[in-house]
Amino acid sequence: MEKLKKEFTYEELLQKVKEQEQHIKELNEEKNAITNFEYFVKESPDLICIADTNAYFKVINEGFVKVLGYSKEELLSKPFLQFIHPEDLEKTLAEVKNLTKKHPTIDFENRYITKNGETVFLQWKANLHTTNNLIYGIARDVTQIRKTEEKLLSSEKSLNEAQRIAKIGSWDFHLTTQELNWSNELYEIFEIENNPHDSELYAKYLSSFLPEDAELLNRNVYNTISNKIPYEMEHRIILANQRMKWVFCTGVPVLDKNDNVVSLKGVVQDITQKKLIDETIKAKEKAEAANKAKSDFLANMTHEIRTPLNGIVGFTDLLLKTKFDNDQLEYLKSVNESANALMEIISNILDFSKIEAGKLELSFEEIDIIQLLNQIINLFKYEANHKKIDLELEIDSNVPKYIKGDSFRLKQILVNLLSNAMKFTFSGYIKLKVAQVEEEDSVSKIKFSVLDTGIGIMDYNQKKIFQSFIQADNTTTRKYGGTGLGLAISNQLLALKNSELELISTYGVGSEFFFTVAFEKILFKKRAIEEKLNSVVHIPFRLSNSLTNFKVLVVEDNKINMLLAKTLIKKIIKNCELIEATNGFEAVVLAEERLPDLIFMDIQMPIRNGYDATLEIRKKEKTKHIPVIALTAGVLNGEKEKCIEHGMSDYLTKPIVQFELEKVLLKWLND
Ligand code: ADP
Repeated sequence: MEKLKKEFTYEELLQKVKEQEQHIKELNEEKNAITNFEYFVKESPDLICIADTNAYFKVINEGFVKVLGYSKEELLSKPFLQFIHPEDLEKTLAEVKNLTKKHPTIDFENRYITKNGETVFLQWKANLHTTNNLIYGIARDVTQIRKTEEKLLSSEKSLNEAQRIAKIGSWDFHLTTQELNWSNELYEIFEIENNPHDSELYAKYLSSFLPEDAELLNRNVYNTISNKIPYEMEHRIILANQRMKWVFCTGVPVLDKNDNVVSLKGVVQDITQKKLIDETIKAKEKAEAANKAKSDFLANMTHEIRTPLNGIVGFTDLLLKTKFDNDQLEYLKSVNESANALMEIISNILDFSKIEAGKLELSFEEIDIIQLLNQIINLFKYEANHKKIDLELEIDSNVPKYIKGDSFRLKQILVNLLSNAMKFTFSGYIKLKVAQVEEEDSVSKIKFSVLDTGIGIMDYNQKKIFQSFIQADNTTTRKYGGTGLGLAISNQLLALKNSELELISTYGVGSEFFFTVAFEKILFKKRAIEEKLNSVVHIPFRLSNSLTNFKVLVVEDNKINMLLAKTLIKKIIKNCELIEATNGFEAVVLAEERLPDLIFMDIQMPIRNGYDATLEIRKKEKTKHIPVIALTAGVLNGEKEKCIEHGMSDYLTKPIVQFELEKVLLKWLND
């Protein structure tokens, strides 16, 4: 102790202890630092490793386990090449080979396959320790960055693709740097070689403009920059090969946070195709308008022609009932027949032009189909007998009795087919065959066929006869008459019901014209108005000659029709007092003043039409009971229904036929 005491003083000892403590502290700190560093390596999100040149990992951190999903043991047990994406193997080997004393550092990227089979992108930095020949590597997982880049690339590709499909190119222009960027499609539209560093680009672009458009563009751009408002313009461009295109361009200002315009961006669309289509549509509309004008004209004309023709038919009918010598009678019959034929042609042309002008609509009334078919067949019995041809009507038992349809148009088509068959058949038979071919709930599809053993139609004519004004050959009109409109009209009428005429024919053997139409079936009671109409037509009447001393008001604006009506009425009513009005307004006044027993009312008249006049007559106490008989042209759809709806008591179709007139007068004046 003493010896010790001799060597160190207390202070010295204290000092020593302090030094010792300091040393221990320093050692501890160093140890901590190393532990921290190990901790840092262990916990680093990056992948840190030491590997040998035989491609085995020697040491790896947790990062490997986290990113690749394998355990440390798995990763250390196999050469690391086994975890690399096969496509990157060669590249990785080459990089590792590159590590030499001369080039101890490498910097590269490769892909690894995780335990789950997913691909990860690793960005490597590796060093070769030249003394122990070990590789010290650190890698960062850049998968997310690469995938985002990939997505960006693919959306850029999609954008380019979309621009290509839509023929839209985009651009932006930076005011300060004067940098102009174009999308691929913009180069395509202007047919300029794609070169991102082309300093002449704007000049080349402008050179395709017409001078006035270039000026307008300059003004637009200036305006957009100074007033911060977008511009739009549509103009032509002339390309290097003198080809012309139409483009639509827009430009918008891009503002910084101080609201200053820093750049412009915009799009250019190639609208050449659209322009062409627009022009075609315009031309088509123009042609359609012209065609419609023509049809309107025809419709009006034919209507005008019908009126005087009604006079000719009516008066010749009357004359035929008076006494003439044989020659005169022959001449008169010819006039009457010609006028009737002319009327038929006019009706056809009227129908045709109405269909063309889209003015023809079908009506939907309840039809007793069996009755209608019998009526139609009856029309041809006389001629068939005369020509010694068998005329047959074959209705399949599955055909419903009542259907909803346009009886007038159905009759028109069948009469037309039967007239043709009659015209072109000289022996054998003509058959109207009707059968239901399909039935679904309340819809019945009915097939109508007209078969004949007539002259038949040559193959090459079988299509063309369905066109308007076309007959099988030029000799047809001369031999058989006709306008070549019948089949075309029938077909157009059928088109309104989504159907068409079909034909099977053998030249020299015969023909079958047929069509199928879907009708609504009716199982229950008929409609009220229809019943009323039917009762109007079918009510039994007592024929008598007792019509004397009646007062009749005739409302008609056409002089000839007026004269015809008056002449016929006078023939039927003895001592008849006739009052004349030439429009609906006069009719209402005269009805109230003179209180006639009956009124004949034309429909289309100036000042006030027949419908309005009748409504007015029905409103007045003094006149509301007077029977009003409509005189209809009978060509318009739903005209009869409209007459009844407007308070008319009955109707007659022009040209007035004496027998019908007599029926109506007897019914309403005898009551
Ligand atoms: P139109 O009979 O008024 O000339 P259509 O359009 O009804 O007009 O008929 C056109 C043409 O089709 C007829 O002129 C005739 O050449 C031919 N054709 C129509 N029906 C028959 C038929 N049953 N047999 C032979 N030819 C027919």
